Amino acid sequence: MSTALITGVTGQDGSYLAEQLHARGVDVHALVRAESSAQEQSVAEWVTLHEGDLLDPDSLRGAVSDSAPDYIFNLAGISSVAQSWKEPELTSRVTALAVGSMLEAAWSLQEGSGKPVRFVQASSSEIFGAAQQVPQNESTPLHPVSPYGAAKAYAHHLVGVYRSRGLFAATGILYNHESPRRPEAFVTRKITAGVAQIAAGKSSELLLGNLDAQRDWGWAPDYVDALVRIVEADVADDFVIATGESHTVREFVGAAFTAAGITDWQNLVAVDERFNRPVDAPLMRGDYSKIRETLGWQPTKRFDEIVGAMVHHDLELLSA
Ligand code: GDP
Repeated sequence: MSTALITGVTGQDGSYLAEQLHARGVDVHALVRAESSAQEQSVAEWVTLHEGDLLDPDSLRGAVSDSAPDYIFNLAGISSVAQSWKEPELTSRVTALAVGSMLEAAWSLQEGSGKPVRFVQASSSEIFGAAQQVPQNESTPLHPVSPYGAAKAYAHHLVGVYRSRGLFAATGILYNHESPRRPEAFVTRKITAGVAQIAAGKSSELLLGNLDAQRDWGWAPDYVDALVRIVEADVADDFVIATGESHTVREFVGAAFTAAGITDWQNLVAVDERFNRPVDAPLMRGDYSKIRETLGWQPTKRFDEIVGAMVHHDLELLSA
């Protein structure tokens, strides 16, 4: 039986990943903060918890040596670009520097035990930021435009450094990926929850920022499946995980109202400058041919299905 250590298990991706690994018979361990219990953090009872904090490198080393994993999935960190603008320093510490601690801990475990350790980093399309190339692929130059993107770019490079050193260190360059588990800090869930409120007569308006940004939105469980394929690949490498399609935020809003049965929605949406970012990546679209050809991965859900699944979930929550 293989053992996996997940950081970020309480997030959208961490929770799906824990479930997928458990279903495959992997012994799942997770790094969690000391303060709250497993139940409070809603982690399944079959996950072995290790207390630690991304701001405390000793605790990360402890979690890695205690769990002695075959696989490490590093998903933890500040995951919202909007939050990274509010807390840029914290973002550097947890989204960039802590990756160095995790990689070093993985390397030490491998050196000390002689057992190979495989490390997979949740990298991000935000490393491409204001990309000159559309769609982006694994060779597109990095050009981050947010504190989050810059922190993820540092981490991305560092994974490459440890790969050169001899660690199985790989990345999934994840484009935006959504599900009913997405928090409302992200525009998709904010929209689907807001549209459901309007459809239920509990709200009259949806306030948003930049409606012109284009994103390549995929289905989070698909992206987690890609991370599992990456950890099991013959060779550690970087892989873009995307759908190859992009849509504006405005299109997402329109699709969400349509899914809720509301056709005349223009007057229900207003722009509020508070939700604009100092700089916003204008157009993200990923070319996933490398992972399709190498690992046989492809997305199972496209734009309308993703929007529909999220809207229906939010409508059900309100009618429950
Ligand atoms: P990101 O692509 O990782 O930043 O994911 P988000 O879901 O947070 O944002 C996606 C896009 O939606 C970005 O271009 C945002 O500027 C845009 N956007 C427009 N209005 C909002 C809003 O109210 N909240 C958020 N989070 N994003 C918004």
